[in-house]
Amino acid sequence: MGFDPVYLLFAAPAMLLSFFASMRVKSAFSKYSKVRAFSGLTGAQAALQMLRSNGVTDVQVRKISGMLTDNYNPTNKVLSLSPEVHDGTSLSSVGVACHEAGHALQHASGYTWLRLRSAMVPITSISSKLSMWVILLGCTLQMAGLILIGVALFAVGFLFSVVTLPVEWDASARAKAHIVNSGIVSPEQGSDAGSVLNAAFLTYIAAAASSLLTLLYYLLRSGALNGRGRN
Ligand SMILES: [Zn+2]
Repeated sequence: MGFDPVYLLFAAPAMLLSFFASMRVKSAFSKYSKVRAFSGLTGAQAALQMLRSNGVTDVQVRKISGMLTDNYNPTNKVLSLSPEVHDGTSLSSVGVACHEAGHALQHASGYTWLRLRSAMVPITSISSKLSMWVILLGCTLQMAGLILIGVALFAVGFLFSVVTLPVEWDASARAKAHIVNSGIVSPEQGSDAGSVLNAAFLTYIAAAASSLLTLLYYLLRSGALNGRGRN
């Protein structure tokens, strides 16, 4: 088994897209982290306000280290914000903080796609660890059935990245609506704050697209093994 040049055809666009998306989110975040939001609220205050105004009082907001490490953990109801988002008063800070609060609201209201995504977490973490090894073992033993099982395990990860899309889109939609409606940002600032969240969404599209390309590559390869013989 040597290097497969066909793999480059699939991997290169995926890598380019991921690179482009991560550049976009960093540049949008840094651009709008220099623009102060109309209300002067910090990200942490904005997130708390969004939670409270939707009747959610049992979510803790904490500061964590790192950059763009912000997340909401449904298992302990902790909303973790990176220092710049937690303490910052910029469009980027309140936008990202309210996006995470959007996840907490999804959790509180039992939003279907979030429930599906959470249910998929355990199986996805196992299948993504196993898939590569099962495929390699199938190739080594030249067992097409085993390869297909490995590809099916990989497909679980792809489905997970697809289910993530509505979850992320909806959290951003909730954030965009709240920051404008509650006056955290001015109506004119709404689209700028939203563009940070749109750039972040692009990274999830890139992840799903690159997972799809890898899946297509595996399917092409395993099909070749079944049909025209091995190479
Ligand atoms: Zn999110």
